[in-house]
Amino acid sequence: MKVAFCSSEVFPFAKTGGLADVSGALPLALKRKGVDVKVFMPLYKNIKPQKTFNEYAVTKYEDVEFFFIREDNYFLRDGLYGTISGDYPDNLERFSFFSKKVFKIMKEINFKPDIIHVNDWQTSLICVYLKTLFKEDLFFKNTKSILTIHNLAYQGIFEKEKFPIIGIGWEYFNMHQLEFYDKINLLKGGIVFSDMVNTVSPEYAKQIQTKEFGCGLQDVLKEKGERLCGILNAIDYKIWNPATDNLIYKKYSKNTLDRKVINKKMFQKELGLKVSKDCFLLGMVSRLAEQKGIDILSLSLPSLLKKYQVVILGVGEEEYHIILKKIANKFKSSFSLNLKFDETLAHKIYASCDCFLMPSKFEPCGLSQMISYKYATIPIVHHTGGLVDTVVDVENGGGGFAFSVYSEQELIKTVDRAYNFFIDKKRWQTLMKKVTDYNFSWETAASSYIQMYNKVLYT
Ligand code: ADP
Repeated sequence: MKVAFCSSEVFPFAKTGGLADVSGALPLALKRKGVDVKVFMPLYKNIKPQKTFNEYAVTKYEDVEFFFIREDNYFLRDGLYGTISGDYPDNLERFSFFSKKVFKIMKEINFKPDIIHVNDWQTSLICVYLKTLFKEDLFFKNTKSILTIHNLAYQGIFEKEKFPIIGIGWEYFNMHQLEFYDKINLLKGGIVFSDMVNTVSPEYAKQIQTKEFGCGLQDVLKEKGERLCGILNAIDYKIWNPATDNLIYKKYSKNTLDRKVINKKMFQKELGLKVSKDCFLLGMVSRLAEQKGIDILSLSLPSLLKKYQVVILGVGEEEYHIILKKIANKFKSSFSLNLKFDETLAHKIYASCDCFLMPSKFEPCGLSQMISYKYATIPIVHHTGGLVDTVVDVENGGGGFAFSVYSEQELIKTVDRAYNFFIDKKRWQTLMKKVTDYNFSWETAASSYIQMYNKVLYT
């Protein structure tokens, strides 16, 4: 089976969030299961490919070829999608250019895919083009397309005046295809034109068909019927494993959890917090967006910081930077705020903290809770989307702390509950040991993706 996997970000080449983790790991897992997969992404600044040609560049990594579409005017910029002040104004040009170019390169390298697997709004136009511009093209006669939605809240919405940039006729600008309340909606186009849609957890697949979580697309999604499913994401244990992690202070595993404390103390020292194994250290690594629960978190921080230590690593919307900075100024001795993207610091947080905070308002899947488990860092989550599928509360025999009502009071109560558990050292040790055994590996998820590919090809 031949699969062209298209994504706007792929770890380790470019990353702003979980999409990159998935796009870096899933193709490799598919390859290990015998799928002939090639990955397509833009050639951004700072990517150093092994071979460069006029229109594209290539790097081979663990036997998978990664093709980077080249257009310096569009992709040689500091950000992937924009700056802190907002999205690049020419994102429609950038990603329609990319989407068309993928077809050209596939033909040039004579790669005739059975499946084109696209991800989120940035590559959604590929599903549209397959059934419009390339409808009569014999090269793609047997090609089907699949769209994975990593986050329904980002849809790629543009003013309708820009429609000609896409390069298809105005007849496709209608409420059943690319139009959404008089604007262009690329994700909607992807949903409608793809042969199958999946999202990144079973719970989120259900939620997005409701008004509350459907972001206006619930009816379009419901119409997919059997052609919509949820496949739980996974993590790459080659990257996320405290036993082999070179970015943390001291490596450890299930049987050497006492070394986790060394990480904690060295981290407290590095951050300028009080060094003590008994101080309850809470961590968070996250895009700072409304979705991630920054509103209830910032309301609860003044109370939490009186009792506990908190370290936050994140970048995102300016308003949240401002709110968090104000809190950081007030609580210098117990709060470490790091407004940046920093892979090393992220690893140190997963390794050094006692608990990981994920009070997400909604969460398609979430990877951080799975990473935390591996590092024996206990997740504290709002029970929504993928966090329902992956976190069972300790009271129900699970390995995390979850609250169902989205409010700062519930968040504070749940952190206090976790702390009461933490001070019972024996119980905490048992809990830490238990969660390191959880397995969210790509082997299982990749098999589900192959099943979905087969469904699209043969039923
Ligand atoms: P989302 O995709 O919604 O951003 P996920 O939980 O699915 O959230 O994935 C987030 C990924 O991005 C994790 O690997 C997390 O460690 C990483 N990440 C998020 N923010 C940062 C940051 N500021 N620095 C380093 N890594 C980050």
